[in-house]
Amino acid sequence: MKVLVATETTQGARADDYSWATPGELVMFGLICATDLRGVGRGCGCGRGFAGLHSERATTTAEVVEWGSSLDDLALAFRDSLQRGGWLESATAEEADDAVHSAVMEVLLVADRYPAGTVIGTNLGNQYVRQEAAAR
Ligand SMILES: [Zn+2]
Repeated sequence: MKVLVATETTQGARADDYSWATPGELVMFGLICATDLRGVGRGCGCGRGFAGLHSERATTTAEVVEWGSSLDDLALAFRDSLQRGGWLESATAEEADDAVHSAVMEVLLVADRYPAGTVIGTNLGNQYVRQEAAAR
């Protein structure tokens, strides 16, 4: 099982890069604002970002890594982050479970497409390779 973590690798390769997350922390895909979605005017850049689970800050670069722990632990980390961010506040238990499940699955499905060590970027829900995994 592979997940995504924040990385500094390839940061600055694009003029619109930013890195406020903590390297090595788990990331997920956050909500994208309407301005970024429409692609008109100057968006805030959230459409290119991965959201750090611990720092609650974003980065444009994520690395695919093997998750050394259980799926339950992963879900717990996501739940904790979503809870701290206030995303689960008025949700029923079932809605909260769904939100956690969706956020985890989105990351697992994306990470599964690449070998560990690949550095990826994201743009409005579409991911692309920024740096291939080193040959082993
Ligand atoms: Zn935005």
